[in-house]
Order: sequence, then C-alpha cells, then structure tokens
Amino acid sequence: MATSPENTPPPSTIDDKPRVLIVGAGLAGLTLAILLQKAEVPYDIFERGLDTRTVGTAMMFGSNVSPLFTQLGIYDEFVDKSKSCETINIYDDARELQFTRDFKLAAEM
Ligand SMILES: Cc1cc2nc3c(=O)[nH]c(=O)nc-3n(C[C@H](O)[C@H](O)[C@H](O)COP(=O)(O)OP(=O)(O)OC[C@H]3O[C@@H](n4cnc5c(N)ncnc54)[C@H](O)[C@@H]3O)c2cc1C
Repeated sequence: MATSPENTPPPSTIDDKPRVLIVGAGLAGLTLAILLQKAEVPYDIFERGLDTRTVGTAMMFGSNVSPLFTQLGIYDEFVDKSKSCETINIYDDARELQFTRDFKLAAEM
C-alpha cells in the first residue's frame, strides 16, 4: 500500500513505551518479560499451555549466560543452587568413551 504524509505515524520519541505482546512463556518469553519489567515497559504474555509442571531434569548453562543472569539479579542464587560441571564425557551405544569435553580452563576464565 502506498504511504502518504497523512498516513504516516508521528515520529516516536524516546519517552514512547509500546505495549509488548510476548507469545510463549518459555525461557525466552519470561526472560524478555523480566527485562521489560526492569525497563518499565508494559507487556502481556500469551501462553497456550494450560498448566506448568516440572520435568525433574537438570539443565546446563554455559558461562555466557553469566552477564544476563547478573542483569536479571539472579546470578548469586543461580551459582548458589548450581553444581559446576568441569568435564562432559560422551559415550557410544557400547558405553565406550568417545571423547571428553574439558571446561576447566573456562572456569578459570
Ligand atoms: C530435552 C531438552 C533438554 C534441554 N536441555 C537444555 C539445557 O540443559 N540447557 C539449555 O540451555 N537448554 C536446554 N534445552 C533447550 C532449551 O529448553 C530451549 O532452548 C529453550 O526452552 C527455548 O526457549 P524458548 O522460550 O525459545 O522456547 P520454549 O521453552 O519452547 O517456550 C515456548 C513457549 O511458547 C508457547 N507457545 C508456542 N506457540 C504458542 C502460541 N502460538 N501461542 C501461545 N503460546 C505459544 C509454548 O507452549 C511454550 O511454553 C533443552 C531442550 C530439550 C528439549
């Protein structure tokens, strides 16, 4: 559709705060929601799932999430509740060790 000057929205200013619609209350959606909350940007979350439940498994996070967790204010609690993982051993079907990933140097960094 062609635009004309009368159809053009006014330029946004730095004070404009759009209402953000987040589709999905997964890791990405909830993380975005926390960041928007901190920035005082209004938002709504739409989640198609009717309930939440734990699956009882561990999750692994690389050190690259540290700045984000610090920004979210959950870094200390995260470290407190976590166990560090310095190596991962990968096995084949016969349980023969295929290779090891060593993260010890990353921990030092
Ligand atoms: C078995 C398994 C193990 C994993 N382990 C790890 C791990 O150890 N470490 C790690 O970092 N990552 C892990 N991951 C990956 C991690 O879970 C995903 O990267 C992460 O969940 C992606 O987040 P997301 O918010 O993009 O999507 P999701 O977590 O999938 O969330 C999407 C949400 O959107 C909702 N949704 C979808 N469509 C609509 C719609 N049309 N309307 C409304 N709601 C909608 C869904 O119901 C869901 O709640 C694992 C994944 C799996 C499957």
